[in-house]
Amino acid sequence: MKRLWALLRQRCPVCLQGQVFTSLFGMHTHCPVCGVKYERETGYFLNSMFIGYAAGFLVLVPTAVLLYFLDVSILVFSLIIIGETLLLTPLIFRYARILWMHADQVLDPRKSEEQERIS
Ligand SMILES: [Zn+2]
Repeated sequence: MKRLWALLRQRCPVCLQGQVFTSLFGMHTHCPVCGVKYERETGYFLNSMFIGYAAGFLVLVPTAVLLYFLDVSILVFSLIIIGETLLLTPLIFRYARILWMHADQVLDPRKSEEQERIS
């Protein structure tokens, strides 16, 4: 439950406290609270692209099908799809990364820098 709340608030997957993002697309390299490095290895966020792709697909396809049945012109269709894509891109980008980091932490847990120093 705590993890779900941290996920929704886009917080660190290890300590569930630290902020991950600095701006719309900018990220901290390390957690400001526990110091864990977010990019665990080179290409770490590649997997989040699959989540982002799937999420984008799941959001855009119903709109496309709806517009198709509403029989709108190709211009209106394109404008609505492009607008929806632009509006949702930051949201999907951020949640794809957060979801990936939290899933990875659950499947292959790691300690924060602080916990590592103690043990
Ligand atoms: Zn942290």
